[in-house]
Amino acid sequence: MPAKGYNNLIGGKWVPSRTGKTFPNVNPARHDDVLGEFQASGAADIDAAVKAAAEAWKTWRLTPAPARAVILYRTGELLLERKEQYAREMTREMGKVLAETRGDVQEAIDTAFYMAGEGRRLFGQTTPSELQNKFAMSVRMPVGVCGMIAPWNFPMAIPSWKLFPALVCGNTCVIKPAEDTPLSTFNLVQTLIDAGLPPGVVNIVTGFGPEAGAPLVEHPLVRAVSFTGSSEVGRIVGQTAAAHFKPCSLEMGGKNAMIVLEDANLDLALDGALWGAFGTTGQRCTATSRIIVHKDVIRDFTEELVDRAEALRLGDGLDPEIQMGPQINRQQIETSIRYCEIAKKEGAKILTGGKPLTKGAYAKGHFFAPTVVGKVKPGMRIAQEEVFGPVVSILECSSFDEALAIANNIQYGLSTAIYTRDVNRAFRAVRDLEAGITYVNAPTIGAEVHLPFGGVKQTGNGHREGGTGALDFYTTWKSVYFDYSDKLQRAQIDTGE
Ligand code: NAD
Repeated sequence: MPAKGYNNLIGGKWVPSRTGKTFPNVNPARHDDVLGEFQASGAADIDAAVKAAAEAWKTWRLTPAPARAVILYRTGELLLERKEQYAREMTREMGKVLAETRGDVQEAIDTAFYMAGEGRRLFGQTTPSELQNKFAMSVRMPVGVCGMIAPWNFPMAIPSWKLFPALVCGNTCVIKPAEDTPLSTFNLVQTLIDAGLPPGVVNIVTGFGPEAGAPLVEHPLVRAVSFTGSSEVGRIVGQTAAAHFKPCSLEMGGKNAMIVLEDANLDLALDGALWGAFGTTGQRCTATSRIIVHKDVIRDFTEELVDRAEALRLGDGLDPEIQMGPQINRQQIETSIRYCEIAKKEGAKILTGGKPLTKGAYAKGHFFAPTVVGKVKPGMRIAQEEVFGPVVSILECSSFDEALAIANNIQYGLSTAIYTRDVNRAFRAVRDLEAGITYVNAPTIGAEVHLPFGGVKQTGNGHREGGTGALDFYTTWKSVYFDYSDKLQRAQIDTGE
């Protein structure tokens, strides 16, 4: 049976790409399972989608925010009803286990309800004027057409972080999902449509980065760009947006450190390390990829982590017994292989894993053994560069201060964790770790949607998704003055002093 065909969504209509080309969406655990054929779009498709979004903006921006929010509430309710179906499709599309894809859909549900609540807030400020008979306030205004580019590892949650705040703020959107996971974005947007979203308010154009992503960033009618993905691509997107003076939110890579001090609850730290390093097959921007362990406990900790990694059950995430799914594609497997080779050459030691699994039940998928790398030094490439796979490095420290220094000696700054029972050191870590997120006695993964999400240094450019930071990106401030004195009053001059 031929794979189901999916078209772009432009101005409320499902239309094929003008390129006439498509690409398959393949299950990374079973290559004979093709979820569908999607449009390999180009600049002409982006142009049509952006124009449709600009047209829809004329009315959407005038729709009261509480009415926009009603659509998000309904979307959250419909997503709840469809959670299991969408989670199963997501596991087939990107490989992570069902418990995690249910969590991914849940994150979209949480974001829908949280952002729907903003429909009756979106607060501005009123403040006294310095002049008599004059009223001053600031209000949030929508930005206009927003271009959104998403990665594949949270294929519904991340699009929801972008779309829902943008919509409640009164913007219209063109989203280009990652080429590996378009179906989950379709499911999300179909739910918005079923909840009553008018045509053209959200448009989907599928395709590859240079052909479909780049024209979206460049399009003159796109007023703001939200990108999540690698720092390498983020640099290109950010530079292009800057050349057009467009606001641009960049959420990029990580090399997240977990510190385990000598007074830590080791069992708890091990639970956290296993989940942080191998949850989502290590393919989270917040994945634990460096564990900095005090010398007094490093031996016990490492031995036990290796045992637990070897006991993980790998396979198709639809099977409830499975704990870790495949990597997303062949390229990611090659990256994991390459970094294990680099680590060995630099003098580190592969304590377990380090290779793809290609036989028997694994033959049809992109599986890589959970990998623990020992004898890692802070300057090694394996300790500095993002692998984005199930590969975790263990580094030794002799003191708390040294642990902090190792953790901060990195170009990224997304998530960090510290395991200790010493409240003083925990607070110092919160103050001194250079990262957008710090967990105490919990792993580096597990963000909640109502808190700001993002990083410092080469992880981000200062914006935040989640929390009220998202509203700041998707609105622009307007200051408003009403003079009811019936005469010219000059600020700074006629203040009556
Ligand atoms: P990627 O950078 O390869 O691709 C991300 C998106 O950018 C895709 O949709 C892709 O098609 C598009 N793209 C590629 N080239 C482009 C170009 N020239 N112009 C415009 N768009 C282009 O990243 P990925 O492999 O999909 O995702 C993995 C990366 O994402 C990791 O580095 C991970 O850390 C990061 N990530 C960050 C966060 C965060 O919030 N900080 C969250 C998830 C993933």
